Amino acid sequence: MTIAKTRPVSDYPPGGDAFRHRHLIGIAQLTPWEISYVLDAAEQWVDLNRAGAAKHDDALAGLTIINAFFENSTRTLLSFEIAGKRLGADVVNMHAAQSSVKKGETLIDTAMTLNAMRADALVIRHQSSGAVQLIADKVDCPVLNAGDGRHEHPTQALLDALTIRRRKGKVEGLTIAICGDVLHSRVARSNILALTLLGNEVRVVAPPTLTPPAIERMHVTTFTDMNEGIRDADVVMMLRLQNERMDGAYLPSAREYHALYGLTPKRLEKAKPDAIVMHPGPMNRGVEIDSSVADDPVRSTITEQVEMGVAVRMACLDILTRRKRKIPGWA
Ligand code: ASP
Repeated sequence: MTIAKTRPVSDYPPGGDAFRHRHLIGIAQLTPWEISYVLDAAEQWVDLNRAGAAKHDDALAGLTIINAFFENSTRTLLSFEIAGKRLGADVVNMHAAQSSVKKGETLIDTAMTLNAMRADALVIRHQSSGAVQLIADKVDCPVLNAGDGRHEHPTQALLDALTIRRRKGKVEGLTIAICGDVLHSRVARSNILALTLLGNEVRVVAPPTLTPPAIERMHVTTFTDMNEGIRDADVVMMLRLQNERMDGAYLPSAREYHALYGLTPKRLEKAKPDAIVMHPGPMNRGVEIDSSVADDPVRSTITEQVEMGVAVRMACLDILTRRKRKIPGWA
């Protein structure tokens, strides 16, 4: 596999040319320097978030952000809400369970309704791949994909890249093993796209039944043996078994899955001694990951990922509303 060099961070163009997109639908639309641009923008919010003030900036004051979540979420919804509020926006949450979607309203009608409310940005999570793009095509404001079906979860990949960059000092030239239920995972898909684009060696480690067909076309190496797949890895990224997306028997049992693919302290010894362990959450403790690994204060980055999520979402909301706010250079 050829590893592309990351474009130097200083090399991205000025102003709006550094990030030309109206929406954030997927990593597939981004270049390496656009990813670096978002990560650099996010970096500035991390310290401020750590300082603990509830609000840091009025950049988004007077703007209304609607979080429309047609699928359950804990961390992503909260993270977008906190991100918007820290930038001074008015944030409104719409949960599908309480919305007219349950009464049979079509997705397009819901999109038209949200549009008529003149939101300044829409953050959408939906159980169907492609649904977020469909809405983006119908509305006048920027749309951010907070996860659509098995397709993409771009802010998760961006926050993972930021976490890796901060822990490893770089996010290129690393060996990264993405392990578990890759077949049903939008997190895996967005991460494979981002991490290969940035010039890392990405391995997919999964049972044959949970390995997407033709995944090698995404410039990854596949492994069915977990011990082999994580050998000498710098980063071990675990995925949740997405039982809600399984429409048949993909595994004999959770116990057998843990025996073959669970990340135990013993198994982690195969990776580099300073390898970090990641998980997007929510975790199935004792299934894909042991508690002693997940809670290891040195190796595990799981809470740091959540923290980076707020900074990355602040950066994305800020960047995507700059045209609307008529920031010089973002016409
Ligand atoms: N929270 C992530 C997602 O929304 C990962 C998961 O659910 O397992 O895709």
